Amino acid sequence: MFCYQCNTYWKVEKILCSNCAKQFYQGKVLLDWPIQHDIFAQFLWIPNEDANLHQVVIHYKNLTKHKPLSKYLINLEQWFYNIPNYFFDNKTEIIWVPVPSGSKRFVNHLVAEYMKTYFGGRVLDCLMKIGNLEQKQLPKSQRQNIAITLKPDFIKFDWSNALIIFIDDIITTGNTLKACWQAMSLNYVVSWHFAYRQKPKSPLLVEL
Ligand SMILES: [Zn+2]
Repeated sequence: MFCYQCNTYWKVEKILCSNCAKQFYQGKVLLDWPIQHDIFAQFLWIPNEDANLHQVVIHYKNLTKHKPLSKYLINLEQWFYNIPNYFFDNKTEIIWVPVPSGSKRFVNHLVAEYMKTYFGGRVLDCLMKIGNLEQKQLPKSQRQNIAITLKPDFIKFDWSNALIIFIDDIITTGNTLKACWQAMSLNYVVSWHFAYRQKPKSPLLVEL
C-alpha cells in the first residue's frame, strides 16, 4: 500500500511508512477540566482540509474484525510509555474501556481488545449510551446532551485499583469523554483516540 503521508509505496501493511512513522505527529488534547487528563489523539483531523486523511478516518471508523486493525495504529509504545507516571500510582492493573458509539460500529471494542493483547490488562465493556426515550424518564438535572451510563451489571463493580483508559475513535469537544468519567466517577481521564477533530471555533488546544 501507499504511505498516507508521503505517498511512497510501502511494503509493510501500515498506513504510514517507517520514515513517516518515526517523525509522526502525536497530540495531546488539552481541555479546561478540573481533573487531571492525558488525552491522546493519533491524528489531527481538520475536515475538508485533508482529503487523504478524511478517507483514512472513514475506513478506520468502519473497521470490522475481518480487517487488519494494526495498520491504523501508529507508535503505540510511544504513546503508552509517555502517559505520566502519576496516573499509574497505586494502580495494580489496566482496564481498557471502549466508549459506546450509539451506532453499530465496533471499532472502539476492537481497539480495546488490541490494546489488551498489546499491553496487558483487561477490557471492560461497562458503558452504554442512553437514548432520548430513557433520558426523558430521568430528572431534568441528570439529562445531558450526550448521556452515558453504566450498564446495570457494573453498578457495584470496583475499579478503584485500576487505571482506566478510554478508547474512542474521534474526540471533538470532549463531551462524550466527560460523560464517561462522570458515569464511572473517576477523578482523572486517560484516553486514546484515532483522531482529534478540530473545528474552527474549537475551545481545545493541541500540544505538538
Ligand atoms: Zn511516508
